[in-house]
Amino acid sequence: MEADPAPSRSIAAPLRAAWTAGRHALARAARLALDIALPTLCVSCREPVDGEGVCAACWARLSFIERPYCPRLGIPFVYDPGPDMLSMEAIASPPAYQRARAAVRYDDVARTLVHALKYQDRTDLAPAMGRWMARAGGELLTGADMLIPVPLHWRRAWRRRYNQSGALARSIERQSGVKVRGEVLRRVRATEQQIGLSRAQRATMCRAHSRYLPTVRPRCRAAASSWSTTS
Ligand SMILES: [Zn+2]
Repeated sequence: MEADPAPSRSIAAPLRAAWTAGRHALARAARLALDIALPTLCVSCREPVDGEGVCAACWARLSFIERPYCPRLGIPFVYDPGPDMLSMEAIASPPAYQRARAAVRYDDVARTLVHALKYQDRTDLAPAMGRWMARAGGELLTGADMLIPVPLHWRRAWRRRYNQSGALARSIERQSGVKVRGEVLRRVRATEQQIGLSRAQRATMCRAHSRYLPTVRPRCRAAASSWSTTS
């Protein structure tokens, strides 16, 4: 006798729906319990905060960079020198890249955020920071072929367990639609910790101790994701 599959399907579907609803309810309850037991703290001032990262007071202390700024380096100007005027830094020492943009000035709150993302496993900060970067770099992302996270040397990636630039890049990808291509660059030599070094010292160290293996066509338009330290 051939079994009628219809009754089992009709029972299985509601059971699956009930199971899924139950799992979601349990997950919500677990999150609520965790929020009550361990409320999220502002990463900067350690006061309890709803949602992501920083409280309203620390948010207000972030200095988002707006025009006018140097069209090459993204450094903010104190006055508007006119269209296409470069900063003295860009004229005196032209960078290898065409254009850079920064989301915020590297002041106390921004420094705390970057340090938490890089060294304290606070990957939960990456979505918000990536959104700020996508907004600041909108014109760079328009027409970009790919988004490349600045790679870590494998030893540092192993110690840190994640690449913060990759976490930021995935957030920027969600905002911009430009696809992340993490495999096209590779850091083949490790750099030392760069805490406390100036921008010039970091650049010198990067040139001296890092090499990348480009595996894409050289004329490709790419945007790199890393957290700027413009101050
Ligand atoms: Zn705060």
